[in-house]
Amino acid sequence: MRKVTAAAALTAALTGSLAGCGDGPATTDAGRQARPGTPPAPTPTASAPAAGATSPGPAAGAPLAGAPGRVPTLAPRADGLTPVFERAQQHTDKTVALTFDADMTSDQGPRAAGGERFDNPQLIATLRALKVPSTIFMTGRWAEEYPDQAKSIGTDPNFEVANHSYGHHAFTSPCYGLPALDGAAARADVDRAFSAFRQAGAVNTVPYFRFPGGCYDDPALRALSTAKVTAVQWDVVSGDAFAKDPAAVAEQVLAGVKPGSVVVMHCTRSAAPVTEEAVRTIVPELRKRGYRFVKVSDLIGT
Ligand SMILES: [Zn+2]
Repeated sequence: MRKVTAAAALTAALTGSLAGCGDGPATTDAGRQARPGTPPAPTPTASAPAAGATSPGPAAGAPLAGAPGRVPTLAPRADGLTPVFERAQQHTDKTVALTFDADMTSDQGPRAAGGERFDNPQLIATLRALKVPSTIFMTGRWAEEYPDQAKSIGTDPNFEVANHSYGHHAFTSPCYGLPALDGAAARADVDRAFSAFRQAGAVNTVPYFRFPGGCYDDPALRALSTAKVTAVQWDVVSGDAFAKDPAAVAEQVLAGVKPGSVVVMHCTRSAAPVTEEAVRTIVPELRKRGYRFVKVSDLIGT
């Protein structure tokens, strides 16, 4: 029920012209649209105190941006379409992957210049301090806006940087009011994001792609087939987009996590101001329940 509320709020916000991110109930198959996302809202604040940051140095011999083959990926589907990973099925290990979408649309530059914060350094510091390996689904636009952070995250072995498109456009329509890209533009958009990561100096990139708004269909999966990425959805919606109550976000995550789960959250204070605070509740509680945090690549690899 909270999911419904969150999805409705997101949809409303999205159609209000903001971005939209992965959020909302998960989808199961391709061909069906997932529910959406995370729109940027104008509201920072909510930063909680934090844990000290510890930034490991750059990884030597690090991976090429988006180079397939370095980390586990799913094989292409029999029909050649991009494979979709949602959670580790039949998983008995108590592992869970927290994922954070760093959303930013192509036209949000002026808002960022006006002081709106699409980043969340406190969240990253907390994930480091709590030693929670995580996967950051970054937009290319975000990496351009925050190159130092993109590099810091992308050279820290605690994280892996996955692709969340360049400018958070939709890959199928309708998708919460996000402007849609056609096939060729969609394919180019994925490359443009990887290129922005490289430009910023992020090297711990992985060939995983999350559709903006979680919206995709077969044509979208076909358009990306030559990109050799694995599409990554989620099975647990945190409801952090535009949330005001970190306890409610934590409760929703704690209620939804199963062994092998992928949780979708956000790394942008603009659209998800209480995420860091929620993480400080979620992490110790899941550990108390016997869970171990892993990256998406660890889940796909099992
Ligand atoms: Zn997003």
